[in-house]
Amino acid sequence: MAVSADAQAAPVEPPPIDPATHRFECRSCGYVYDPEEGVRKLSIEAGTPFAALDPASFRCPVCRSKVGAFKDIGPRNKPSGFEENLDFGLGVNRLTPGQKNVLIFSAFALAIAFFLSLYSLR
Ligand SMILES: [Zn+2]
Repeated sequence: MAVSADAQAAPVEPPPIDPATHRFECRSCGYVYDPEEGVRKLSIEAGTPFAALDPASFRCPVCRSKVGAFKDIGPRNKPSGFEENLDFGLGVNRLTPGQKNVLIFSAFALAIAFFLSLYSLR
């Protein structure tokens, strides 16, 4: 069997450039069609590429726009740089804003408690 040499380049992930995995965003309302999820509301099964949808009958499930209103925004696992940045910065970037607030607030409260304890010593 002849296996292409670049088959071993990506050990786990499927080839990133597969038009069938591309998501499409509705320019009218921002709805994103994800082929991995399909649209249960329209009985479109998961794994249905956008190109396989019937352009005559498909409508945005949110705003009823036609296929022409949708824009190709690429596959879900496309490296965007933003997601890679999440791995830097001691993991703090992975915290939700709420968790960050708790972190900052508790450090702040700790500092106040420390200064108050200095005053109580006198
Ligand atoms: Zn829409």
